[in-house]
Amino acid sequence: MKILVINAGSSSLKFQLIDMDNEAVIAKGLVERIGTVDPTTDLTYEWDGKKIKQIQLKKAANHAEAMAFVLDVLQGKDRTDLEVAPDDARGHLKDTAVIADLKEIGAVGHRVLHGGEKFTASTVIDDAVIAAIEENIPLGPLHNPANLMGIRACQEVLPEVPQVAVFDTAFHQTMPPKAFRYAIPNEYYTELHIRKYGFHGTSHRYIADRSQELLGLPKGNRVIICHLGNGSSLSACVDGKCVDTTMGITPLDGLVMGTRCGTLDPAVVEFICNRKNMTPSEVLSMMNKKSGLLGLTGSSDMRDVTARYEAGEPDAKLAIDMWGYVLRKYIGSFAAAMGGVDAIIFTAGIGENDAAGRARAVEGLEFMGVKIDPEKNAGIRGVEAKISADDSKVQVWVIPTNEELAIARDTLELATK
Ligand code: AMP
Repeated sequence: MKILVINAGSSSLKFQLIDMDNEAVIAKGLVERIGTVDPTTDLTYEWDGKKIKQIQLKKAANHAEAMAFVLDVLQGKDRTDLEVAPDDARGHLKDTAVIADLKEIGAVGHRVLHGGEKFTASTVIDDAVIAAIEENIPLGPLHNPANLMGIRACQEVLPEVPQVAVFDTAFHQTMPPKAFRYAIPNEYYTELHIRKYGFHGTSHRYIADRSQELLGLPKGNRVIICHLGNGSSLSACVDGKCVDTTMGITPLDGLVMGTRCGTLDPAVVEFICNRKNMTPSEVLSMMNKKSGLLGLTGSSDMRDVTARYEAGEPDAKLAIDMWGYVLRKYIGSFAAAMGGVDAIIFTAGIGENDAAGRARAVEGLEFMGVKIDPEKNAGIRGVEAKISADDSKVQVWVIPTNEELAIARDTLELATK
């Protein structure tokens, strides 16, 4: 069966078509500038594993139009509203075809940010599920409405095809109350559902499952998963089930990230509001979009910050030091929370590719039995590999994440039930 995986943002739509017979990506792409004031909607499309095409459509006013465009591209259907085709063959998409008929798409899997406390696992989408995703909009005000636009767009253009929602929060629902509750009066939890939810759950679950297959750990095993990308979070897992995570009611909490500040004293918000005449929303926007590596150095990209660090720039040195320090503190605290740690796994952009970042993450943790082999670590980029020294008590691994495949697997399972 072929499964279409959709990750809808407010003005964008990422997709992958996956052949579940061999779990190979048939085609993938990103539609940008949907419903914006820009004159065109742009598609970057990759198929046959290598060919890449940039296509501009006059304008997709909404996600349903964008989805219709994607389905035409997947079928290689001619369109008259193409603005620019790279080979100048305006209106001709024949060579982009990967399916002959929409019937080949067996199901659609949607990434949904916030499932609140309702969703502990992926689910087939029906009216009640849509209503529940709507109810969770206060918890995911930017993402849930966009995810719903993606779902409704697919229902419109593929009405007969089963749709599945895969929630970013679901994996963390196994946390015990002592980990997910905040120590504020009970009514804020019972009335407003204020608690730690955690995010990147699809990635953490993929890595947790892989760790149980790959590492040969005994029952009761304790693993810390470090998802280090532009957004970053850790999860502490016992036997592959989450017992704690660093992100909170929103993805702002925890580690120093590309543009997010991570943990700080919440009193900072009121202090800044008063001193800078800003609203709480403006302060939170600053903390989400202008902080982290960006706020400290002017760049959110770890590659840039590392280059500046190596050139001896003091801002970059502080940022990298803080990034590593906060990360090590959380790794240590999760090991303490679980009474020890058997494996630490790195994933996502920084975790998979940045050997120096991985070394910083575990620097000084030899006292807990964590020792990486610098030579093994240096050579690893984007592949599954053990990077701990032979005499390390704790296994340290790089395991590339694959959120789309995790979504497609859930979708296949639920759609064929
Ligand atoms: P992601 O959000 O998972 O796509 O990860 C994006 C982050 O990974 C950015 O901060 C990138 O700078 C970082 N990244 C990707 N490749 C490398 C690399 N080779 N070295 C350091 N950081 C990298």
